[in-house]
Amino acid sequence: MAPHTGLFINNEYIDATSGETLTIRSPHDDSLVADNVQVASSADVDKAVSAARAAFKGEWSTWTPEQRRVVMIKFADIVEKNADELAQWETKAMGQPISVSRSIIGFLTAAFRYYSGWTDKIPGEQWPENDGSYRIVQYEPIGVCAGIGAWNGSQIFFGFKIAAAVAAGCTFIYKPSEKSPLGVLQLGALIKEAGFPPGVVNILSGDGRVGAALASHMDINKISFTGSVFAGKKVQELATKSNLKRVVLELGGKSPSLIFDDADLENALTHSSQNFLFNTGQACVAASRTFIHESIADKFVEQLKARFEQFKHATGDPSDPKTFLGPLVDEKQFDRVMEFLEIGKKEAQLVTGGGRHGDNGYYVEPTIFLNPGDDARIYREEIFGPVITLRTFKTEEEAIKLANDTAFGLSACVFTSSISRALRVSKAIESGMVNVNSSQTFGMEAPFGGWKQSGVGREGGKQGIMHYLESKTISINMNV
Ligand code: NAP
Repeated sequence: MAPHTGLFINNEYIDATSGETLTIRSPHDDSLVADNVQVASSADVDKAVSAARAAFKGEWSTWTPEQRRVVMIKFADIVEKNADELAQWETKAMGQPISVSRSIIGFLTAAFRYYSGWTDKIPGEQWPENDGSYRIVQYEPIGVCAGIGAWNGSQIFFGFKIAAAVAAGCTFIYKPSEKSPLGVLQLGALIKEAGFPPGVVNILSGDGRVGAALASHMDINKISFTGSVFAGKKVQELATKSNLKRVVLELGGKSPSLIFDDADLENALTHSSQNFLFNTGQACVAASRTFIHESIADKFVEQLKARFEQFKHATGDPSDPKTFLGPLVDEKQFDRVMEFLEIGKKEAQLVTGGGRHGDNGYYVEPTIFLNPGDDARIYREEIFGPVITLRTFKTEEEAIKLANDTAFGLSACVFTSSISRALRVSKAIESGMVNVNSSQTFGMEAPFGGWKQSGVGREGGKQGIMHYLESKTISINMNV
């Protein structure tokens, strides 16, 4: 069936007033996936904001927490029924292996189910009399919110942002990436089917201009952005210069992984290969800077090389359930990664990979570089592809120093069999998340987000919903 390609506003799909459209082609074989994907104009952005504001002030504001919970769970159930079809749109548009797209739909449903439980679990506070005043603190929905997403896990970003927002009683306008908007656009019909009132969730397709119009809009109270540091800084600037709307930024990473000589080597190798290459290495939390204790380095590098080379046999058509590595999302990302591969060959020792995989599609070989220098671009900059850099260390102190020597601070891994070392190193690492003997873990109940230039604010857990609420302190004069 042809996918929905219109803007989703007030529970209806409509054409954009811009007259502009996007065409989506498969990065696997350049076949046409969809054309006529509408590009929202600034007038369309205004229309969506008005719809979200009317819903926020209108029917949605009268819904009880239980009504919100029920509609959220119903939406998750409907998404689950449609999961196979929804997953296909990510696979077709961005080349995400179908097994990955399917698992990512699970995060969307998990987010709605998790946050449905929070609709009635944000109590206020009361403070005993202090200097003649009795104080009540209550938490109220922040209002009309917007979200902008990257393409590498569209359904997760939709889930994290919108589930927390609607649980808090907010309304929402979401812009998916122009590279993979189809899966998210299909969710509009399911929002309506679940019974959300018109205007509560709106979806606007388009490019960065739509994102900028949302970030600078005077009637949006909060924006949550997932994407690069470059665009995230622009969003923060636009938000500040317009109406000082609240901002949460989920940005890039260059996450370290520390492998100590007492680590379970099999486990460390699995996480540094299979988990690192999940989603073809296009994951913000991928541990692309891996540090190995020098006493186990030769063995580790040799075995990691063998594992990376095995994955060449599981590279190909992303719609095949057996495929593990798909193409990169598009020509631009492919060119960027290929450029890094050429740079890397001058900056470090190439262990395996280093080129294009096959002759068709935007496929890149899983690649390992060894011993890049401190200033190497492949070591400093986020590549966002199946490319890992390895270095060695002698002491725990040196390992921590190397791990923290980055502008990013999203995630980190520590592989060791010593619990005291695991705790010591976790404490010393400057990042929002640390995985001990694991990687890329994800739990709805815990905050997700980065330190330093990897972000501002958090999604997930209680912190995630608190970012959609404003506190109000009511002081009562006890002397009147
Ligand atoms: P991107 O180029 O920054 O784009 C992200 C989103 O921002 C897209 O929807 C994009 O629109 C929009 N955008 C671009 N310029 C904008 C502007 N001036 N104002 C407002 N919006 C604007 O990033 P990407 O290439 O899609 O994604 C890869 C990056 O996302 C990596 O750095 C990765 O680490 C990061 N990421 C972070 C997380 C996290 O949770 N921390 C998760 C996933 C990805 P169009 O692309 O449609 O033009």
